Amino acid sequence: RYYFIILSLWLFQIGNMDVLFEAQFSQLADSGRPLSRCGKCLRYMKYISTRPPRLYCNTCEEVYHLPQNGTIKLYKELTCPLDSFELLIFSMPGPEGKSFPLCPYCYNSPPFEGIDTLFGAGRMGNSNNPGKGAGMPCFLCPHPTCRHSLITQGVCACPECNGTLVLDPISAPNWKLFCNMCNCLVLLPQGAHRVSTTPDRCPDCDSMIIEVDFNKKATPLEDGATLHKGCILCDELLHSLVVVKHGKSFSRRGARGRGRGMGRSGRGAGRGSSKMVDPKMSFRGF
Ligand SMILES: [Zn+2]
Ligand SMILES: [Zn+2]
Ligand SMILES: [Zn+2]
Ligand SMILES: [Zn+2]
Ligand SMILES: [Zn+2]
Repeated sequence: RYYFIILSLWLFQIGNMDVLFEAQFSQLADSGRPLSRCGKCLRYMKYISTRPPRLYCNTCEEVYHLPQNGTIKLYKELTCPLDSFELLIFSMPGPEGKSFPLCPYCYNSPPFEGIDTLFGAGRMGNSNNPGKGAGMPCFLCPHPTCRHSLITQGVCACPECNGTLVLDPISAPNWKLFCNMCNCLVLLPQGAHRVSTTPDRCPDCDSMIIEVDFNKKATPLEDGATLHKGCILCDELLHSLVVVKHGKSFSRRGARGRGRGMGRSGRGAGRGSSKMVDPKMSFRGF
């Protein structure tokens, strides 16, 4: 009988804590501001900024954890093609802080297998149980047609690790690429009006061809032209304008610039031997 009393006291406490927690949570949820639409019910979810930052859909009664230590905004009312949730853009503070889009739903339940390094999981030290706030932003997403995924925003292999350098979509005018795995950062031509990825690949190194729309007043192109497309590793103009902030050398393996194709591998090697091969870039046709 004694144990029974202890057990019921314990159960009572748990029940109480639940009630307490729910009361606190609904207060929190009430104080949150509407931020983005839920892909299931299409109503606005509330953003709860107190740690851990979350989105809460009142209708679906679902909580979506968000990355920590930065600011979060609606991203141009764009939606995720997989689940119709509105995308958010997360920005880390400071001039070198990266910004990236994320879908609240995919961030919490990555839709693809084989994504073993979740953003924010490293610091927790346990990748099996990444903890609140860790998840899959678009820059880790291998979705082949989404405009924000690794496949369409990934430019080239990281010189430091196995990751991919991805374009920071809102870094204008201080355009940059950042690695989706380490803290390698590459500054692109500063002050450009626009830098965007294209569907084309460099025939020499398989990096993504990017398009730069230079500022009219500061264009390095002849005759005041502003549009230039090229590979940031092989195009001499673009390569001369990029700056690696963190990370070692930044060039194609082997010869670069004028020596293209004259390196160890010679001309006949063709694609496939001396290029930087990023396994993550080969998700094309996935
Ligand atoms: Zn909902
Ligand atoms: Zn999604
Ligand atoms: Zn996506
Ligand atoms: Zn890296
Ligand atoms: Zn190239």
